[in-house]
Parts: sequence; structure tokens; C-alpha cells
Amino acid sequence: MSEESPAKRKGIPHETVIGLEIHVQLKTASKMFCGCRVAFAAPPNTLVCPVCLGLPGALPVVNERAVELAVRAAVALGCTVHPRSAFARKNYFYPDLPKGYQITQYDRPLATDGSLDAPAEGGGAPPVRIRRLHVEEDSGKSLHDRFPETTAIDLNRAGVPLVEIVTEPDLHSPAHARAFLVRLKQTLEYLEVSDCNMEEGSLRVDANVSVRRPGSHELATKTEVKNMNSFSQLSKALAFEASRQVDLLEGGGAVEHETMLWDPVRGATRPMRGKEEAHDYRYFPEPDLPTLVLPEALIDTVTDGLPELPWEKIRRFVQTYGLREYDAGVLSADRRLAAFFEATAEATPDPKTAANWVMGEMLAISNELGQHVAELGIEPVELGRLIDRVETGALSHTLGKQVLRRMIETGKPADAVIDEEGLSLVSDSDQIDEWVGEAIRENPAEVERYRDGEEKLLAFFIGQVMRKSRGKADPERVRDRLARALATD
Ligand code: ADP
Ligand code: ZN
Ligand code: MG
Repeated sequence: MSEESPAKRKGIPHETVIGLEIHVQLKTASKMFCGCRVAFAAPPNTLVCPVCLGLPGALPVVNERAVELAVRAAVALGCTVHPRSAFARKNYFYPDLPKGYQITQYDRPLATDGSLDAPAEGGGAPPVRIRRLHVEEDSGKSLHDRFPETTAIDLNRAGVPLVEIVTEPDLHSPAHARAFLVRLKQTLEYLEVSDCNMEEGSLRVDANVSVRRPGSHELATKTEVKNMNSFSQLSKALAFEASRQVDLLEGGGAVEHETMLWDPVRGATRPMRGKEEAHDYRYFPEPDLPTLVLPEALIDTVTDGLPELPWEKIRRFVQTYGLREYDAGVLSADRRLAAFFEATAEATPDPKTAANWVMGEMLAISNELGQHVAELGIEPVELGRLIDRVETGALSHTLGKQVLRRMIETGKPADAVIDEEGLSLVSDSDQIDEWVGEAIRENPAEVERYRDGEEKLLAFFIGQVMRKSRGKADPERVRDRLARALATD
């Protein structure tokens, strides 16, 4: 899909304005207001009870662990956490909402006024303000693909604890919105408050979008875009929707305040059927729950117990290991990767070399196999030992990479692989001269050109010999022998 709208091609500038509303499932063992277990993909309607089914007379009880996790997220996002907040009923009718209302927080949310710095491409964007963070319960799920022409309802998810995080309209491009969401997800993962799995729906994002003339400080009419369940869908949907609005305005039309559904197959947004904008949720205070009063010490305890957060880790990696900011960012993507890198760095004299191996070969293999670096069966100490063999010249870099792959395949330590498979560097001149001779015989035209002064062909010959040796020849020795052999006839 092209991200260029006709209006943009005409060169008419518009600024995109985006505010996100993010729902995150909290990682608790049980639901928000009852003791039902929380699990993804359990048989439908097996994790339910009178409370989450909304049966008459059943009373909710607040899950303290959920509140604690929400406070942890709020503190990390720099919010003011309110010692007293209140639950409210949000009333609407939908088949997956058994009570006919959702217990949420409305005019007295748990936390307000935070911010999160989300480095966008090019940098320079100010931190994104977080308007509020509140706790609420999830709805059930409508299953449209279980029975032909019938919608089934699974209430296992009904009552699962959520936090909703609402940003101010501080995001100004799809890339910026994506960067923000990446950083938010990473932060919540660091905090271990949620799995943040967009595909499984434990992290869901709705985007509010409007466009305006640059320099204008008024907020234009926005639409709300739903149904984006990956980062790339988010970027595409936002780009499409902003373009659609620009085209509309340039064509003399007006943006309507409506809810749009992103259709990933068509690559387009379309208005949700049935205008639901006129919704009146008739919020009122939840009569079955008292004011949510946080235990006095909770905010301090949570604050003291926060793990090192992504931006703190990045700063420390830059300062302690002398890494570039970008590299520090890659290595801090998640806590396990960061820990793996640090353990490797400790096992080798040069942290930057360790960083290169982890970011280069380890991440490449991890992507190929679809397994986390920490799950490849390589102990950081062993990777350190391998790096050491390469750094001291016992192995070429190419050979080192081969050894690493064999270590992963066999589960054997570096030295065992090197010994058993005879993978150490060949520096035996006779053997190397044999390959050199072959390379020269097989490429007479290149030999002639080299001798006519095209000296950069030496690299070509080195490549030929290295290939013959399957990466085992000592590259220094090869260069030396080749230069000699090519110079003389
Ligand atoms: P609504 O009344 O439609 O719920 P809110 O003011 O409560 O709108 O804001 C909901 C979300 O929409 C917030 O994330 C906010 O930042 C964002 N938002 C509000 N106005 C705009 C706008 N004009 N353009 C883009 N986002 C907006
Ligand atoms: Zn229940
Ligand atoms: Mg609102």
C-alpha cells in the first residue's frame, strides 16, 4: 500500500495528530473481581463463575494483585497515583458482556498525568503525555468462526483484569505512534505486568486520528480506528486513515466523527456498521464496590521495587560498555536478551565484541529458528570462550560462526566442537599453497588482470582460497601466500 495520498503528492501539507488508547491484560493468576483462573485458549466457558457471569446477587471483590500491577505500570510511566480512586459502571448492551455493564474507572481513575519518551526516527520528539491509567475488567469474546452462521460466546475472558492507558494527542506520524507502542510494550514487559501479546489480544490498541494544517493548534475532528493487531497493521492503518482524511478535506469534504474498522485484507479503514457514536454509557459509581483505597505503603514499595527500565538500561549500556545508543537499544529489547549480552560481556575482555556477536550472529540465528537468543542452548560463558578463540586468532571469524552453529546443533561447548570437527584454523603453509595453486590455475584471466595491475583482485583470490578451505584457512597466511604466488610466475 502506498503511504502517499494524492493530496500529499500535490504537496499540500497536513500534520497528523494521533492519540492512543491501549488496553493491557494484567498478568494475574485470577480475574479482576472473582477467583476464576485466567488462561488463554482454555476450552470455552470453563473459567467462569456467578460473579463474572453476572448472575444476580453475586458480588465483586477487588483482586489486590491486579491493583498492584496497575500501580507498578503507573509509577513506571511517571503518573500521579491516587491513593483513592473509584470504580464505575459503563453500561452498554453487547452479547459478550454478561452483566450489561463493564466495571471500569471513570471520573476518579487510579492514575493520571504521566509520560513516556518514545524516540522516533530522527529523534527530537518530546515525551508523549499519558492522560490517565485506570483498571477495569475485560469483556468476553464473540467467536464468529466456530459454528457456521452462528456467533458463539466464550466468557473465559470476561472479568480478566485490564489497565487502560490513554495518551494525549501527542503523536504526529504512524512511525511515531509505532515507536511509542513499541516502547510502551517493552516497558510493560520489563515490569512483568503483562505478556503484551498483540496476536493473542493481551495488548490491544485503538487509535484516534485527525489531520490539520501545520501551525494550527486546534484539534480537528478525529476518527477512532480499531482492529489493528500488530505493529505493522497499526502503521498501515494510521497511514491509510490520515491519507483518507487529507483527501477528504482537500476534496472539500469534512471528516466525520466516527469509528473506523481497519481491514487488513483490503488495507483500508471503513466506518463500523451502525453509528455507535451516539452511545450514552450512563456511567455511574459502582454500588457494589467501595472506594479503591491503596494501602499506605504500596506506592513506595512499588517504586522501590521497580526493575531497571528500558531507557535506564540503554543509558547504562552506553556508559558502562561504551556501546552506541542504537546498539544498546537493540540489546535492551527485552530483559532476557540484555541479561544474555551482559553475561557474555563479562566472559570476554571486550564488551563491544560481545555486543557484535550477540547482535549479529546470535540474533540472526534466533530469527532464523524463531527462538529467543536465551533459548538456543548456548551459555554466555561458552559464547565468551568462542569469541576468545576468534579474538586470539585460533579461528577466523567465518570459522567462528560455523563453530557457533555447530554448538547450537550439538549442544557441545566451543572447544569440543573445534577439536572434534577439526574446525581450527589451517595455517599449514603446504595445505594453503595447494589451495592457492588451485585458485590460480582455475582463474587464468583474473591472474592476468592482476598482473596487469588490477591489485584489488587479490580480494577475489582470497575469497576463492577461503572457499576452498571452507573458511578454515588462516586469512593472514592466505593473503601472504597468494601475494607471493601471484607476483611470481
Ligand atoms: P472522546 O471524547 O472521543 O473519547 P477524548 O478527548 O476522551 O475523546 O480522547 C480520547 C483519545 O483520543 C485520547 O487518546 C486523545 O489523545 C485522543 N484525541 C482526542 N482528540 C483528538 C484529535 N482531535 N485527534 C487525535 N486524537 C485525539
Ligand atoms: Zn468468575
Ligand atoms: Mg473519552
